[in-house]
Amino acid sequence: MHYNAKRPRLWRQDFTQLSDLGPVEDAQVADWPIGYDDLAPYWDEVEYRVGVQGDVTQMPASTLAQSPRSRQFVMPPNPKGYAASLLAEGARRCGYTAYPYPAAVNSRDFDGRPRCNSCGLCSGFGCPINARGDALVSWLNPAARTGRVRVIDRAWVYTVDTTPNGRRARRVRYRDAHGRDRSVSGDIVVLAGSPINTTRLLLLSASDAHPTGLGNRSDQVGRNMMFHNFTLAAAVYAHDVQPLRAQSTTLQIDDFVGPFTGPEVQALGVPYVKAGIVQTGSGAPLLMEAATYAGLVGYGIDHKQLMRAGIMHSRVAGSQLIHEDLPQAGNRVDLDPGVRDFHGVPAARITYSPHRHEKAAATLLGPKIAAYHAASPGATGSAIIPYPLIEPTMTYTAHLAGTARMGTDPATSVCDASGRLHGVDNVYVADASTWPTFPGFNPTITIMANALRIARGISGAPTPLPMAH
Ligand code: SF4
Repeated sequence: MHYNAKRPRLWRQDFTQLSDLGPVEDAQVADWPIGYDDLAPYWDEVEYRVGVQGDVTQMPASTLAQSPRSRQFVMPPNPKGYAASLLAEGARRCGYTAYPYPAAVNSRDFDGRPRCNSCGLCSGFGCPINARGDALVSWLNPAARTGRVRVIDRAWVYTVDTTPNGRRARRVRYRDAHGRDRSVSGDIVVLAGSPINTTRLLLLSASDAHPTGLGNRSDQVGRNMMFHNFTLAAAVYAHDVQPLRAQSTTLQIDDFVGPFTGPEVQALGVPYVKAGIVQTGSGAPLLMEAATYAGLVGYGIDHKQLMRAGIMHSRVAGSQLIHEDLPQAGNRVDLDPGVRDFHGVPAARITYSPHRHEKAAATLLGPKIAAYHAASPGATGSAIIPYPLIEPTMTYTAHLAGTARMGTDPATSVCDASGRLHGVDNVYVADASTWPTFPGFNPTITIMANALRIARGISGAPTPLPMAH
């Protein structure tokens, strides 16, 4: 509901990182057990189902070489906005290429939903007119309308029960909206609670057959927790550049994906730097602006005057570099020994610190991104916040992956390539928990495509051709 609909695909190189680039000290870099071509038909199908705008003809050749496409996007891009066009010109002057961000935002009426009106409020909030395609409007609601799907809302699932030998799941136990204990049985159990709560559920499902948690015989459940951290850059203008007069972030730059190697990188203590895409041309959401001013002057008349002046939502436009977060065994989710939730059940505990690879990426790339902001026409200044060089407590993070990685070796992974738990015949994981690595791209379209691939593997149904709109 609150994602902002950016829909870039991963690159071919992301699936073979260990083979191509070798190991990194203190990291658990791994190849994926599937490749780009395994996901390609499902990316196609998801793009057509949710309605992704974009323009293949404006994508750099280097991007298309790594992320080949068999067809044009389902609809053309929205207008990019004035602030984004100024930053794109700054990028061009520095030798970089900004192009329309693939986004699940309607640039025309599509699938019974209206076109986007560029109100600019999508980042972090629901779209008030359903111009944005997502799991709810594009998948769950249509499925529920068939009458063949039963959705149990506000069900809190706390255990997957198995047969005594642990080979098969028998039922799922949950607490309903009124706090009553219930259960539901089925032939197949698919977990998709996102990495933290999928892990929690697997660990809470410990039994005599699985004493350390379901699927956790190798002590891999919960490990390799990954987050996306962001280096932020901003340009300040002397005039109103209207950064919120467009959907959230209309342009993408791929020049900072990498991998980068050579003496400059080795001097930073890592064998390579692999970062990610840069989201270019966004403005600070109004609530973030209000919170920033409140931190400076509190609330009251001074706060009102700052909001009316609106420097942040009129004269500041910026970008975010998405950092690839390398997997580490010690970055993990487990059950907190001391904290319980309101049900009295152990809460999830997250232990995390970024790998030095991310600091190297911020050191190497942050100044280059600040430079193209300074080169933007009309910019009077630019600044970067190069996470994670700043205080470790000052994090800016979104997106999460890992904790139940796919792999061929049960000693180092939790699921096989089909998403099925090693050693349990009928329990699958279908969310970003399954990702072995976490490349620096917005993850939603790949989460959906991989879930669709896993679902088709379970059902045995062929991949249908994408819908024609
Ligand atoms: S800019 Fe406004 S109308 Fe367009 S997708 Fe975002 S929230 Fe919806």
